[in-house]
Amino acid sequence: MSSTTADVALVGAGIMSATLVTLIQRLEPDWSVEVFEALDGAAQESSNAWHNAGTGHAGFCELDYATPLPNGTLEVTNAVTINEQFQITRQLWSSLLSKGVLPTAETFVHSTPHLAFVSGAQDVAFLRQWYDALKGEPLFANLRYSDSRDEIGQWSSALVQGRDANEPIAATYEASGSDVDYGALARALIDAAAPAGAAVHLQHRVVDLDRDGDAWRITHRSPAGTGTSRARFVFVGAGGGALQLLQRAGIPEADGFAGFPVSGKFLRTRSPEVVAAHRVKAYGRAEQGVPGLGAPHLDYRTVEGEGSVLFGPFAGFDPRFLKNGSRLDLLRTIRAGNIGALLNVAVDNFDLVAYLVREITASKAKQMRALRRMMPSAEAEDWELITAGQRVQVIAKDSRGRGRLQFGTELVVSPDNGLAGLLGASPGASTAVSVMIRLLQQAFPDRSTRWDGPLRELVPSLGRAMNTDEDWAMDIRRETADALGLAGV
Ligand SMILES: Cc1cc2nc3c(=O)[nH]c(=O)nc-3n(C[C@H](O)[C@H](O)[C@H](O)COP(=O)(O)OP(=O)(O)OC[C@H]3O[C@@H](n4cnc5c(N)ncnc54)[C@H](O)[C@@H]3O)c2cc1C
Repeated sequence: MSSTTADVALVGAGIMSATLVTLIQRLEPDWSVEVFEALDGAAQESSNAWHNAGTGHAGFCELDYATPLPNGTLEVTNAVTINEQFQITRQLWSSLLSKGVLPTAETFVHSTPHLAFVSGAQDVAFLRQWYDALKGEPLFANLRYSDSRDEIGQWSSALVQGRDANEPIAATYEASGSDVDYGALARALIDAAAPAGAAVHLQHRVVDLDRDGDAWRITHRSPAGTGTSRARFVFVGAGGGALQLLQRAGIPEADGFAGFPVSGKFLRTRSPEVVAAHRVKAYGRAEQGVPGLGAPHLDYRTVEGEGSVLFGPFAGFDPRFLKNGSRLDLLRTIRAGNIGALLNVAVDNFDLVAYLVREITASKAKQMRALRRMMPSAEAEDWELITAGQRVQVIAKDSRGRGRLQFGTELVVSPDNGLAGLLGASPGASTAVSVMIRLLQQAFPDRSTRWDGPLRELVPSLGRAMNTDEDWAMDIRRETADALGLAGV
């Protein structure tokens, strides 16, 4: 370990830190960067392929990204924003491929069309409204809608086989959707960062962060014992472990935040018949009162070259904030300043609490019934239950001091801009590039003019909304699709 002060230290080696170190090395090749990862390899927590659904979230199929308004219409700005963010992600990946930073796209991203799929007259009417609200948006110009059983069956025979012929169904289809192995991507980025000068310390758990003059002192534990390092800027990319570390650092921005862990579970099959019948990702409609957690989805996955299908997520309870965390994690984050927020979220979100209790107590038979609403011919013996990553649902205080559930990603930056961290999960890994660019702009305001050109070279659309110019957007989408070997535009 160096006794000098690093320019930047990153805590954790998931997709967020992997993206940040990659950007910093392009912008400031002379900066010293240290990465501290608690485990013996990168991306073994939420970013691991089997710990998330691998969706390249672009708003093409996630019905809960649209907000119903009191006048009965749907507000789709959020879907458009998330699509813009994923376009930014794709552009960075394609630039990194062209520069040889990433050796190949084949190991981490695959064309997998995105479908929104619903059954029942009420949800069919909702999907039609959702499609009508989005189809005029330039980034959604290729989205298709169908309520024809034959056409939907061509998109995925698994969705229609064995289904009552009288049941109304409808789907939308977007050919440019993708499945992403964020774990493989994060490992490839960390592998590229080390030879470019980053010091990557595995099995180094950061246990404390303290202000130390013009820098931050990082205390870490490794098999060799306890040590300290210093860095002028620290990014806490510790996923579920971020809240505890930000609280330990004592920055006022972390005050009042609380976290509640929800573990995710999926049913998974590698049955060749199912895998052949469903080569898409199909997202349904969430139960009322559980936005962001409850939308069922049936996902074709490509992990290490092998196809499989996942269904879920099912929620479980585990007090740990990381899969490899401690059973005391929840207790350790409770403070006088956040316990009230935690409690009134439980009272104010009765639907969510009831949903979690139902999910935690659900039997495999009940999980199979949920799966059969999407894939009526599913056979229990083909499916195994796997435990995905831990989500730490963030609770923030509103202006009246009451707790509010946050479904987005919260960026927390200390007043001196020397420490930053991320709280929250959704839409997560897909937006890592935009979130990390925002972090750089916020934490290094004096560099923003200097970094503007190099960032635009990596992400040509940066600073200009693609949704305002369909021809230009299509050109960029075509270029990135070609570079990444993806179908659809
Ligand atoms: C069930 C589920 C499904 C999801 N599906 C999707 C999806 O389909 N698409 C999508 O885009 N996103 C999805 N997400 C979200 C996505 O997985 C996360 O947003 C993303 O992986 C977070 O990356 P990260 O780098 O912040 O955290 P992580 O990948 O969790 O990495 C954090 C790292 O920090 C390390 N660490 C923690 N504490 C310390 C410490 N004290 N010292 C040193 N190291 C430490 C950990 O070991 C880990 O390596 C899903 C999440 C879940 C839980």
